[in-house]
Amino acid sequence: MKTILTGIRANSELTLGNYLGALLPMVRLANKHSSEYQVNIFVPDLHSIISEIDGNLQENTIKTIKYYLAAGLKINDNVHIYRQSYVPAHSELCWILNCIATMGETSRMIQYKEKSKGQESSNVGIFDYPILMAADILLYDATYIPLGEDQFQHIELTRNLAMRFNNRFGEIFTIPAKTADQVKFMGVTDGIRIRDLLNPEKKMSKSTKAENSKIMLSDEPERAAKKIMSATTDSLGKVKFDMFNQPGISNLLQIEALVNDIPLQDVVSAWAGETSYGKLKEKVAKSVLEMLTDFQEKSSNILDEEVLHLLKMGEVYANTVANEKLLEVQKAFGLR
Ligand code: ATP
Ligand code: MG
Repeated sequence: MKTILTGIRANSELTLGNYLGALLPMVRLANKHSSEYQVNIFVPDLHSIISEIDGNLQENTIKTIKYYLAAGLKINDNVHIYRQSYVPAHSELCWILNCIATMGETSRMIQYKEKSKGQESSNVGIFDYPILMAADILLYDATYIPLGEDQFQHIELTRNLAMRFNNRFGEIFTIPAKTADQVKFMGVTDGIRIRDLLNPEKKMSKSTKAENSKIMLSDEPERAAKKIMSATTDSLGKVKFDMFNQPGISNLLQIEALVNDIPLQDVVSAWAGETSYGKLKEKVAKSVLEMLTDFQEKSSNILDEEVLHLLKMGEVYANTVANEKLLEVQKAFGLR
């Protein structure tokens, strides 16, 4: 059975953009494939500590898992949820991979350049996390790792490290699919980019300061609806999907389609010819309000104990698989 592996950092509360663009597509992908694939969903807490954490990491972790469940993730014997730091083989393999990775290839990572830009002295974790990521993937022989475009370079790095390792020591690691095949597997053509409500030229980001720019999954639904009502639009007076000239209106149409799980094209045709924006805003505000009310109710009905139970089971599974792989690697290197 092939493995799909995914994770989302629990550094802070998630936005509607994170939900519609990352969490929900992942849950749908997992539900679709979990009868023929192993699905590993992990909270990369060791990745979290390379940057600032809002609140309590453990609480955020539990909350993030509740979000997966509230988004409809179906649990069966092939779906495993675990915390990275509860599987020590991740850090062990990271160290070993550090010893076959080169400074040259690791220094070329764009994410590292961007994340360390302007910082007087960035921590070594920011430099090394792609290698930890490679360990996260290779320990489980994962083939598909649904990720945003900004992470594709790290998949290529993982593939290179795995091939180098296999050339030297024999077929120990499964080589993850090429990024082009990853995209095909995810079934997306363009990544979903929910826009900032006040500055729709930019994407919605949790780190944006202005509260009215973003909808958080924990927002009071009424408050979220108000944010939609005050979203920036334009003065063209026509409802049309045109991200370039009308990013605000296009963003609302996009949100309306995703929140209700209907094709964007259907939403666009339903509103074609409309000249005032008020009605559209009211409809989207209502959709978001209903979605958040339902989502928050679902996630608040999930008990911490339930999540902890899933984590414990997942961690038994993950430790078994990861330790087996680690032992093969240790033997290859002469450590065992
Ligand atoms: P930050 O401002 O800290 O970068 P972020 O909101 O961009 O936060 P990330 O932690 O960088 O969130 O990304 C988590 C996941 O959410 C990634 O898979 C990313 O592609 C996705 N994502 C982030 N923002 C959006 C958005 N506006 N629309 C759709 N997907 C998004
Ligand atoms: Mg980001």
